[in-house]
Amino acid sequence: MKTIGITTTVPVEILIAAGYNVVDINNIFVTAEDYGAFIDKAERDGFPKSHCAWKKGMYGVIMDKGIEEIVGVMEGDCSNTKALVDVLKMNNIKVNPFMYPANHTLENVKISLDNFMKQFNVTLEQVEKVRKRCNEVRKVLKDIDRLTYEEGKATGFENHLFQVSSSDFNSNLDEFEKMVIEKRDEIAKRKPNNKKIRLGYIGVPPMTTDIYSYVENFDAHFVYNEVQREFAFPRGIEHSNIYEQYYDYTYPYDIDFRLVEIKKQIKERKIDAVIHYTQAFCYRAVEDIVIKKALDVPVLNIEGDKINTLDGRTKLRLEAFLDMINDLKEMGQ
Ligand code: SF4
Repeated sequence: MKTIGITTTVPVEILIAAGYNVVDINNIFVTAEDYGAFIDKAERDGFPKSHCAWKKGMYGVIMDKGIEEIVGVMEGDCSNTKALVDVLKMNNIKVNPFMYPANHTLENVKISLDNFMKQFNVTLEQVEKVRKRCNEVRKVLKDIDRLTYEEGKATGFENHLFQVSSSDFNSNLDEFEKMVIEKRDEIAKRKPNNKKIRLGYIGVPPMTTDIYSYVENFDAHFVYNEVQREFAFPRGIEHSNIYEQYYDYTYPYDIDFRLVEIKKQIKERKIDAVIHYTQAFCYRAVEDIVIKKALDVPVLNIEGDKINTLDGRTKLRLEAFLDMINDLKEMGQ
């Protein structure tokens, strides 16, 4: 089976229908014990110090693991992708372009998906068959999400991990399904472990995954992971075709479109406060200005860089923020 690397969520159904083994490069990077070596490789090859660590890590993984073919999302994902793609092409990596259209209409999404299907020589019928199968697994992820925010049984980290992994289903849909079913059933048997402060996590998935356990020291837990949940397409399950599913996927589109769903979830999940995570040197950090203005719950922006654990300053800021939320709750605000 041929392997194809992805650098963000793309229509995985099309790649699976085309017979590929799909590997999310981000997941290899962030779970590697020696993840820093991938960043070092990129810097040795000329990537600047002042460049996003995720991007450098992805480059390092692609080169180090001998990945010969990837999907490059040229629009709607990351402003640095075009430059990364140029360097990869120079290194003879095959790049299959995909775009989330900036002009976000159902018609444009359809054109983009049809082009992608054509590139991989698959039919809509084949793709819909795979989508149906993927949706069976996504339903289990939706259960785990519900076990987090409704029943308080799944931890914020579990919620993050299983949903973020659905970008490539850990490269094996059947095994991933078996694993998440077992996990869901185990979580469902637990006693609720609700905390006083209910947090939402928005922004790119964190380098610093210890944030999930750290906030628990202050009687707080995450009951919503925005982008990770988008990767798991909870609404896509209900859509009648792949076009609607990818039209309704919020992450690649403008901030106002994302905010509609974020606001809805803040209300439904009774979220007290939001942590907005951004990555150093990422253009998305600027979105924080709009986010803080648009949301009517307190928002704390924290920034990660190369290290995969929270630094002392960020821990202090989180502690002070959670103290404040605690006080506000006690005052009944
Ligand atoms: S964190 Fe920002 S700059 Fe880095 S890969 Fe993601 S979108 Fe691109």
